[in-house]
Amino acid sequence: MPPDETTKINPWQMVLAQIEKAEKHLDCSLDMLEKLRHPERALLVSVPVRMDDGRIRVFKGFRVQHSTVRGPAKGGIRYHPSVDLDEVTALAAWMTWKCAVMNIPFGGAKGGVECDPAELSPGELERLTRRYTAEILSFIGPDRDIPAPDVNTNSQVMAWLMDTYSMQIGHVVPGVVTGKPLAIGGSEGRSEATGLGVVYMVLEAARKLGMDLSHATAAVQGFGNVGSSAARNLFREGVKLIAVSEKNGGCYSPHGLDPFQLQKHYAETGTLHGFPGSDPIGNDDLLALPCDILVPAALENVIHRENAGQVKARMIAEGANGPVTPIADEILREKGVFIIPDILANAGGVTVSYFEWVQDLQNYFWDEAEINKRLRQIMTASFKKVMAIAEEKDVDNRTAAQILGIGRVLEAAQLRGLYP
Ligand code: NAD
Repeated sequence: MPPDETTKINPWQMVLAQIEKAEKHLDCSLDMLEKLRHPERALLVSVPVRMDDGRIRVFKGFRVQHSTVRGPAKGGIRYHPSVDLDEVTALAAWMTWKCAVMNIPFGGAKGGVECDPAELSPGELERLTRRYTAEILSFIGPDRDIPAPDVNTNSQVMAWLMDTYSMQIGHVVPGVVTGKPLAIGGSEGRSEATGLGVVYMVLEAARKLGMDLSHATAAVQGFGNVGSSAARNLFREGVKLIAVSEKNGGCYSPHGLDPFQLQKHYAETGTLHGFPGSDPIGNDDLLALPCDILVPAALENVIHRENAGQVKARMIAEGANGPVTPIADEILREKGVFIIPDILANAGGVTVSYFEWVQDLQNYFWDEAEINKRLRQIMTASFKKVMAIAEEKDVDNRTAAQILGIGRVLEAAQLRGLYP
């Protein structure tokens, strides 16, 4: 049973509840499952930063490697006031399953610093990033653990991380991080990849449900890397985008919003409010809008036992990690909402990160068409496998994806055996 839930739930408890649900359906040996209920390593670091006013502030930083059974650990770095050890550990475990669902040779990791980057100057942000990198330096590396962007971190942050690591090692090491700028070994297509992957999965789901996307409507929560790319790519597919939001709220129009114009408006004004032809909308109201496709692309825990009953979308494509709590999952299943779970829907980012890492190791770079073709192939194959498991085992899509992911990790763990 899902753990007792108020509206919010500890994300690590969510992971454990999901493992318990998938466990009953796993055909392989469960001998190593206990190992996956614990992260392999968790590092807590203090990050002292000289602020612009001369004072020293100390931030709390984390890097957690959940599993390296299938390859080097892989996962983003989040800068947010709510970052804590349980959140980072949960996000690391979801990375483990996600890489396994895509069948890419990585384990799962995540990192974070408890901070509000909106309060930091560019100089403070750079010093925080460099000191955090120095503190986790012995943990990371192209063969051991490869960070990437997540909430409130971007290609510039990855560039500072790569530079700090390279300066310490004594030579340039582009493969230590993905999501870098193109000029220093980044990959074509990486910045769009997560949102584009979400839309590849929406296309597959729409085909399965017989949904005509040219008559479909969508609402997107979060207008950062994932949400804005998902919005643009849905728009390109002819979907009518009726609402988009960021942390301070968003805008709504039943006639449709142009995400390219919206991006310009957001860049110029710093708010989604006031976009011509639209009305303001709050984040909770956005989730309850009648629409065909709902894309939560902000944070975890946004659809929970209190508001799941109000969701009217036919399909939820989880751009964010962990946006739906276990009890909300049950409520949505009873309502017949088709969920494309996070470890499938938002795996485009880590898949192109894998391409970036491969290109960095080979010093040979592919064009965007090649990247997107390979991305689509991998994600579509994974979608089909997850759907086949859902049908065969008569389970929901999330459980099916977990069965695939956890099953692959268990198979590798069994083959490697227990050290010593
Ligand atoms: P981002 O920092 O680029 O954007 C986050 C967006 O969410 C911003 O628009 C922010 O205003 C909004 N937001 C923050 N708090 C909110 C709240 N309480 N309510 C509504 N909106 C809120 O981050 P991102 O990289 O787009 O990541 C978003 C989600 O996608 C996270 O769950 C992340 O783990 C997941 N994800 C990201 C990637 C990636 O490649 N960046 C890959 C896979 C999954």
